[in-house]
Amino acid sequence: MSSNISIPHRLPLLVVSGGVLLPGSSMRIPVNTPRNMNMVKSRILRHNTLSSTVIGVVPKDPESVKDDLSSLHPIGTAAVVVQVTGTNWPKPAYSLLVTGLCRFGLESIVQESPYPVAVVNQLDKLPGEDNESDSAGLGDIADVFREQANALVELLDVTIPVVKKLKRLLDSLPVARLPDIFTAIIKASYNEKIKVLDAVDVEARFRKTLPLLERQIEGLKLLRQTKQGHLNTKDPHKNKRVIDFKKELRKLQRNFNENENEVDEIAELEQKLKSACLPEHALLAATKELKRLKKMPTALPEYAITRTYLELMTELPWSKSSKDVLDISKARHDLDEDHYGLEKLKKRVIEYLAVRQLKNTLKGPILCFVGPPGVGKTSVGRSIAQTLGRTFHRISLGGCCDQSDIRGHRRTYIGSMPGRIIHGLKLVGTNNPVFLLDEIDKLGKSLQGDPASALLEVLDPEQNNTFTDHYLNVPFDLSQVLFIATANSISTIPAPLLDRMEVIHVPGYTQEEKIEIAMHHLISKQLKEHGLSAEQLQIPQDTVKLTISRYTREAGVRKLERKLGAICRAVAVKVAESHPKTVQDSEEKKDLLQIKKPDQGNDVLEMSHPPDMPIVIDELALKDILGPLIYESEMSERLSQPGVAVGLAWTAMGGEIMFVEATRMDGDGRLTLTGQLGDVMKESARLALNWVRSHAVQCGIETKPGTDLMENTDIHVHFPAGAVGKDGPSAGVTIVAVLVSIFTGRCVRSDVAMTGELTLRGLVLPVGGIKEKVLAAHRAGIKKVIIPKRNEKDLVEVPQNIQKDIEFSLAKRLEDVLQQAFEGGFPSLKEATATISQNSKL
Ligand code: ADP
Repeated sequence: MSSNISIPHRLPLLVVSGGVLLPGSSMRIPVNTPRNMNMVKSRILRHNTLSSTVIGVVPKDPESVKDDLSSLHPIGTAAVVVQVTGTNWPKPAYSLLVTGLCRFGLESIVQESPYPVAVVNQLDKLPGEDNESDSAGLGDIADVFREQANALVELLDVTIPVVKKLKRLLDSLPVARLPDIFTAIIKASYNEKIKVLDAVDVEARFRKTLPLLERQIEGLKLLRQTKQGHLNTKDPHKNKRVIDFKKELRKLQRNFNENENEVDEIAELEQKLKSACLPEHALLAATKELKRLKKMPTALPEYAITRTYLELMTELPWSKSSKDVLDISKARHDLDEDHYGLEKLKKRVIEYLAVRQLKNTLKGPILCFVGPPGVGKTSVGRSIAQTLGRTFHRISLGGCCDQSDIRGHRRTYIGSMPGRIIHGLKLVGTNNPVFLLDEIDKLGKSLQGDPASALLEVLDPEQNNTFTDHYLNVPFDLSQVLFIATANSISTIPAPLLDRMEVIHVPGYTQEEKIEIAMHHLISKQLKEHGLSAEQLQIPQDTVKLTISRYTREAGVRKLERKLGAICRAVAVKVAESHPKTVQDSEEKKDLLQIKKPDQGNDVLEMSHPPDMPIVIDELALKDILGPLIYESEMSERLSQPGVAVGLAWTAMGGEIMFVEATRMDGDGRLTLTGQLGDVMKESARLALNWVRSHAVQCGIETKPGTDLMENTDIHVHFPAGAVGKDGPSAGVTIVAVLVSIFTGRCVRSDVAMTGELTLRGLVLPVGGIKEKVLAAHRAGIKKVIIPKRNEKDLVEVPQNIQKDIEFSLAKRLEDVLQQAFEGGFPSLKEATATISQNSKL
């Protein structure tokens, strides 16, 4: 691991006015400019991934008052952030302890705000990378320097640990490292240090530093003489010099103090390693690293890397597991308690747990919950962990496109980290947690390798007992981990992964289900979260209903939960404000918010605290808190003119209704399509237009005999936003309805929505996501839904109460769709249907 270490090509910059960090030395830098503050906040505190702790420290002339980046010094020092200390209160103030690694040249600034990032060019080797041959050609100057450095150390008190350490360093480090390190501890001005920093050539560096070193020795000698003289003089002048000498010594020592703790640290690590019960192979690797660590000077970046590695080794739950509580009836009770509905999902989970209880093994497919956001996938995962008495950890895979996110980075670079699996194990502290692999359908791919293949290894029960994280570099047994995955859609889950999983679909909820969920789960949860009780706040069912229909339009209940949270917050403020007040006060507050509170009107109470009466949120209060209604019923308004029809789309967010619109204008027969649509949709639109052209007469479209529908005409079909990117062909029938509407000038019925794919011959083919689409139609108040005949079987999944509200039309052919979608139908089309279907071989 000691070869090929390099610093990243791009570095975030920390600009230090009047300070020069030299490689091999440590420095504490107060963070006091907005740019530096941004860098620390968004780079160091938030990211704890790869190389985020390696930064570029660039000096800036203290004389320059300009705040721009033009006065940066062209050479800086790559550094590793060893420690961040600070406070957020009363305002953020941080300081960083950094250790310099090597020089770099600033090539270009590629980002200026919120903090600067530069492309850099590494100018010298990293500590630990250099060898004696580097200093071979240096000749006398290096020898003289070492002598002088020794002389300096002699002048200091060797019984002090830091000085002892300095002496050890002097003996162990390659001589080429000494100029930087000594410049850092001796007294030198900004300009002198800059000159040393600029001396990229090692010999030049020696030449620059030697005079500084000699000056310091002279100074110390002088002070020492004075000190000795002080024993028999009372000269106040000399007294001051003695104090100076002490100060000087202290300063020199402080420069090394940063590394003082290392001896204790190693002993502590050793102790921890003993008590961590590592398996043999891991213990072997750890002991080897510990041995290396003991020999390493702490200034090396490798020291920090190895120490962090060993700490991880001691913190991993190699043999620590929680005791499983496997009681099926308890599990069933717990799941029911926490979640309303979701019968299919719960049943499958119980089966899964039952099999586990009997077989006592985790082998078998991984459960994968697939459904729109907010339907309780994560929350069921958490319940499973709870009922099993295991710890729970969620690993979000959304946007993860690098296999090292899963498997870690090899320790050859500074700031490398273990992957999320090992990191998760360290966090939970047991080796048998429930890991929820969230959004497994959003895994990306990149040049850094395919994370899906790494995950495959994690999930494979044949291999995962020897899962080897690149960073950890010894196998860790994952076979006791219970993995559960979630996804919004299975279409983007890589096939080999999908193969490992058993998919359980969790479709969206109906309005009634949402009401139940809100009344029995969400409200009490939100009350608790906001420190309120049912005695303080009541949200009646009607209010919940209104919130669902007018403030949310979603398949799950996430937004609903947020809205309920908003209500709680508003009330929490009122409760907190009015609590110590008299009745009169709280009455005033109440008026402000227009929250209806049961009448307390009792003058006798005036001077005492009011009894806690619940605040009841009615429609007025709801509007006051949540603002004006977001979703008005727009259906009839939009469908009051020809050229609009309602289609049903399936997206990863659940079902959606979409208004497809068309206009017609003079032109030369072109079809324009706009909106978010994929290639399949474009083809569907062509197909639809051609079908209408060939059935113009039957549809009652007036054209001059012998001329085409599109002659001198352009058609523009638009799929408005909100319909979300759909690639599916299921809008085919809707496009036909829109076209027939625009050509005939007749309106599509405003209470009808439709879905179905079409063929050139006018057959209606089945489509997916019927349940989700019907739920969406129901949410939007649609009364009639036209679906392909061959989707009839899917209707069993639609809840009974919705079937009651919605009339379903089953269409075999496009003609059936049009008959249902237009008031009064098309008399001549009926005949055509009969004839065509007689001739059809399909
Ligand atoms: P997902 O993981 O599917 O996106 P979450 O599990 O985060 O959704 O659920 C969002 C919120 O809705 C959570 O607070 C969850 O407890 C609640 N929730 C969802 N479905 C139900 C249900 N059937 N019963 C009770 N609460 C539910």
